[in-house]
Amino acid sequence: MSDSREQRKARRERKERAYKRKRRRLLGLLILIVILLAAALIVVNLVQGHLEKVHRASVESFLEIDDEIQAGMAGGIVKILNVPARDELKTVTDENGETVLEHPEDLWVLVNKEFHLPSNYEPADLVQVSVPFAPGRSLDVQRMRPVASDALTQMFDAAKEEQGYELYAASGYRSYDVQKVLFNQNVARFGSEESANYLSARAGQSEHQTGLAMDLTVPSLNYQLKYDFESTPEGQWVAENSWRFGFIVRYKKDKTAFTGYSFEPWHVRYVGTDLAKYLNENDLTLEEYYGFSAKYSDHGAELIPDNQSYE
Ligand SMILES: [Zn+2]
Repeated sequence: MSDSREQRKARRERKERAYKRKRRRLLGLLILIVILLAAALIVVNLVQGHLEKVHRASVESFLEIDDEIQAGMAGGIVKILNVPARDELKTVTDENGETVLEHPEDLWVLVNKEFHLPSNYEPADLVQVSVPFAPGRSLDVQRMRPVASDALTQMFDAAKEEQGYELYAASGYRSYDVQKVLFNQNVARFGSEESANYLSARAGQSEHQTGLAMDLTVPSLNYQLKYDFESTPEGQWVAENSWRFGFIVRYKKDKTAFTGYSFEPWHVRYVGTDLAKYLNENDLTLEEYYGFSAKYSDHGAELIPDNQSYE
């Protein structure tokens, strides 16, 4: 009996040892699993962090590229079209305390009731324009700056070649002093400075002093400057085609609040082909292009089209 008890005891002890071994192994396995899990977690975290960093970097570089594209597009209009930046319009105070344009020789210059030319400004490069002129016009007003003169000749040639139209020039460059006399004549004619100034510029405020403007006419209007020029085939052709040669019809019918002047279908101004094309495509006056709002009322509205000749 005692033997069997001993045997039982020995068996129990073996069992207990085996059980303890198993428990140790299980515990070891558990610890290993925990360690492996922790390691896996760390690895996942590291990978995730890295991926986030890569993603952020790619987003940032995309935003940078996007900024570059945006800036490129904004500057692109100016670069591709070769049109002026709008802040290029600079004024200075002259010796008489007058605010005048710093660069009156600029082909893109804005001359109007607000931006004035210096009284002593005369373009240094005026040339005689070789297109037909209305009879009785002095040689002095048959001048323009070369770039505008060449473009005007091309436009007259094209009108003739494409349509058989005979355009005539009437008045190009006018000095400050000539404009002063002309304005005073218009004051006498229209009864007040305000009325005269709706159709005629004061000295220093006329585009004709830049040597870049020309008034046009046709024989059917007796070589005069009339609103009717608008409805002549030649006038319509000029309105539709002058931009091709770098000219704009400067004072449009529906833009008087921007320009401050009555409709003048006969007055073209050279601004270069790029800017002329841009203004034509976007139906803009120079004032609008430079960011000025409609600030002129229709004072002088009594000067409605009456088919008189204006100057
Ligand atoms: Zn004119």
